[in-house]
Amino acid sequence: MEKQDQLLMKKQNRLLVLELIRAMSPISRIQLSKVTKMSPTSITRIVQELQEEGFVRESLIESTSIGRKPTLLELCPDVLYTVGVELDRRIVRVGLVDFLGELVDFKLFQRKSQESYKETLNNIQEKTVQIINENHIEMKKVIGLGVGLPGSIDYEKGIVKISEQLQWENIPLADDLKELTTHNIIIDNELKMKIIAENTIGQSIDSDNCILLGIGSGIGAAILLHGEVHRGTSNNAGEIGHTVIDPNGVICHCGKVGCLSTYISESAIIADANKVKPINSIEEVYDAYRSKETWACNIMDRVTTYIALAVSNMACLYEPEYIILSGHLIDELPGIGKFIEEKCDRYIWQSIRQNLKIVYSKLGSEGVVRGAAIQAQKVLLDL
Ligand SMILES: [Zn+2]
Repeated sequence: MEKQDQLLMKKQNRLLVLELIRAMSPISRIQLSKVTKMSPTSITRIVQELQEEGFVRESLIESTSIGRKPTLLELCPDVLYTVGVELDRRIVRVGLVDFLGELVDFKLFQRKSQESYKETLNNIQEKTVQIINENHIEMKKVIGLGVGLPGSIDYEKGIVKISEQLQWENIPLADDLKELTTHNIIIDNELKMKIIAENTIGQSIDSDNCILLGIGSGIGAAILLHGEVHRGTSNNAGEIGHTVIDPNGVICHCGKVGCLSTYISESAIIADANKVKPINSIEEVYDAYRSKETWACNIMDRVTTYIALAVSNMACLYEPEYIILSGHLIDELPGIGKFIEEKCDRYIWQSIRQNLKIVYSKLGSEGVVRGAAIQAQKVLLDL
C-alpha cells in the first residue's frame, strides 16, 4: 500500500473510532472492536493515541456487564471548542460550543439599521474574544468559527454571493473574518447550518433524510440526503421561497411574479393585514390571531395552506423521513402546527404522508449558532 493511502486509512480509522465514541458513549474497547470489525490490538492502539492527544478519556461510569468490568470510554468535552455565529438583519448571535456540541455560552447583540459591514465584523470579533475570555478558554483550543447567514453563499470559497436581508453582495466574508479574528472560518446559508444541529442534537438525530423548513421574514429549506447537505449546483438547493405558485400573483423582490414567498413571508402577511387596518409589525398580526380576530384568522388560514403546500411539494420531491418546521412564525404560534398538519393530511399523497413525520424545531434562537459551530468542528478538526 502507498504511504499516502496508509496515512489516509489511519486517519479514517481514527475518525471512525472517535465518532463511535461520540455516538455510543460510554463505550468499551471490546464494543468498539465489534462495531468497527477492527482487531482489539488496533482499537487499543488508536484509543491510546486519542487519549494521549486529549480527545478521549476513561469514563467514571461503570459497565453493567457481568464478570470483569471493561473500562468505558467517552469524549473529553473541553479538548477543543468552536464558535458559532448567526448573522441576521437586526441581530447577531454568538455561541461557544464544546467538543460534544454543547453550548457553553451564548451572546447576542443588535445590528443597527445603518451598520456597515466593517462594524458588524468588528462586533463579531469583539464578542468572540469576550465569550472565549469570559469562559477562561485557552485561545489555542478554539479551532475556528462557523457563520450562518441568510442568502446565497459560496460555501467552498467563503463568499456571500448575495444576501438581500443584509444587503451584501459578493463579499469575501470568510477571508475578511479570518484576517480580523485569526481563526479559521467557514460560512454557509443559515438553514444549511441549522439542519446540521437538528441532525446532531435536535429532532432528526435518528435519520439521514430530512428537510428543515424555515418560516419567518422569508421561507426557505435545507435538505439533508443520506447524511449530507444537498447543495445543488451552486449551493442554492432548498430556496423554495422562489418557487412560483401563481403566475398571476403579485411581484416578488426577486423580480418574478407569484413566488411562494409573496404569500407567507412576514412582509406579505403585514401587507395583507394593512388592507384591513393599519399594522406595523408581525407581532400585531400574531396578537390579533391569538385574540381570534376574524381578519387575522383568515390571513393565517391562508398562510397555513401555503405552508402545507410547500411541505407537500418538498415531501413529494425528496420523500424525507422528517420535515422539521422552524422559524419565527412557528416559535411564536406553536398552536398553528395542528392546522398545518391537518392541511398536510389533505394535500400530501397518502403513500408519502404515511411515512412522513412532521415535527417542530426545539432549538429556538440557538439552532443556527449550534449548527454552525458543530459544522465548523466537523470541517476544521484535523485528526
Ligand atoms: Zn421570488
